[in-house]
Amino acid sequence: MKVLGARAVDQQDRRLATRARRLWRPLSLGFVSIRWRLAIWIALSLALTLVAIFLTLRFAMAGTLTGDIDADLSESLQQVSAQVAIIGSLEDRTNLQDVVDSYSRAGLPSSFVVVIRDTHGAVRASSSAINPEALALDPEELQEVLAGDSIIRKVQLTDGEDLRVRSDRLTVGQELIGVVQVGASTEVVSRTLSRLQTIMLIGGAGAAVLALVIGYWLSRGALRPLERVVKVAAEIEASDLSKRIGAKGEPGEVQRLADTFDAMLERLGRAFEQQRDFVLDVSHELRTPLTALRGNLDVLLMDRWMDPEVRNNLQRMSGEVGRLIRLVSNLLYLAQADTGREPHRHPIELDLVCLEVYSQTKGLRPEITVKLGHEDQVTVEGDRDLIKQMILNLIDNSLKYTPAGGKVTVSLGRDGADARIVVEDTGRGIPPEELPHLFERFYRGPSTAAGGTGGAGIGLSIADWIARAHGGEISVESYPGKGSRFIIRLPLAPEPRASER
Ligand code: ADP
Repeated sequence: MKVLGARAVDQQDRRLATRARRLWRPLSLGFVSIRWRLAIWIALSLALTLVAIFLTLRFAMAGTLTGDIDADLSESLQQVSAQVAIIGSLEDRTNLQDVVDSYSRAGLPSSFVVVIRDTHGAVRASSSAINPEALALDPEELQEVLAGDSIIRKVQLTDGEDLRVRSDRLTVGQELIGVVQVGASTEVVSRTLSRLQTIMLIGGAGAAVLALVIGYWLSRGALRPLERVVKVAAEIEASDLSKRIGAKGEPGEVQRLADTFDAMLERLGRAFEQQRDFVLDVSHELRTPLTALRGNLDVLLMDRWMDPEVRNNLQRMSGEVGRLIRLVSNLLYLAQADTGREPHRHPIELDLVCLEVYSQTKGLRPEITVKLGHEDQVTVEGDRDLIKQMILNLIDNSLKYTPAGGKVTVSLGRDGADARIVVEDTGRGIPPEELPHLFERFYRGPSTAAGGTGGAGIGLSIADWIARAHGGEISVESYPGKGSRFIIRLPLAPEPRASER
């Protein structure tokens, strides 16, 4: 005998449980919606109840109808026996046949037959509608009947008709003279049962379909509040946690679910607000000293007689501080975007902003040439700091994703009613499948993230927010291996009227 260790028993149990779960899976209807599942379960339970009712009814009806037939057989048998007793013997065949004929009935469903036999089983009179051999008793049965037992059995005739036949002994006074057999068709029983079956089948199927429809309709009503929960949950974004389900007077469980969900949203909203306020405070606090630090470094760099090595170091430090300032500014704007802040609007000369950005970025990576391309004089309305940050973010990316020896060009022009700022690079380009996600918050291209290039995936989303907050947009064209072109469009400031000039 193989003895299993505790671990083997455990594994066997687990295997059995898995098998049971697999068998149960189709029954649990996990692949259909809860609504349909409820409806199907209601219809199935109704169908099962109906089947149980049908089986009980069928059993009871079959018993009652057969009992009726047996009572009929017993009564007829007594009457035939009494008539034969009056005749006195089995020798008077004519009278005997008359008695038999008077009790015989041919034709379905109520055919009735009588057969009279002597003590040896030989037929003395029989209904004409039947071949008496069909009711023949074997010697043992004959002895039983002659001994005083009643035998009831089912006989199937050659034409398919079923008879219930009762055989009793026949006596005149104390003298045993033979056997009398009466048989009645059981057609009534089978017809009644088959009618019951048809009625139950049609009625049951109809009731099950009706239960399915009603069950579906009821469960739809019951699940409607849940659908509302799903809808609100789908609408919720991290930037807007103000939505609530606000269920009132729903059934107990649903109301509890909705209240719990609302309470969770409340807590999440508070947590997000605290986080946003924290980012706002920290970035604000960091920006001021960082700006002062860069100012001081720039002042130091004005010293013409400085040792070239020190100058080099100071320049690198100034570049790093600049990078930190841009990062902190991005964080600040990210938090501001979440508060729904509208930018201040003042006329801005974009060409001057571009020039400023150019001079700020041209030395950041000496191995890459930053160039000013075509420059028109263009004025837009908006927040100077935000617009500058937007262009800085694009140039910053171009510098990050362009290899040494490459070129970044910034140009500015008009296109109809729009100002058009183009930041172009000869960098590595962006694969087409990444383009749809580029402006998503915290998105970093897979190769970028893997390559460990510094960045938090917020530069482009901030730039996109700034452009849209000014009524404009950013688009991108990219040729992997050749370079990328980011195009910002901003609506031009309205021309001052002649009287205002
Ligand atoms: P990151 O901090 O990662 O630069 P961004 O939001 O600025 O975040 O950019 C998102 C992603 O877009 C980057 O991770 C990079 O994969 C891609 N990307 C942006 N600008 C360029 C560019 N000029 N050249 C190539 N890829 C770029």
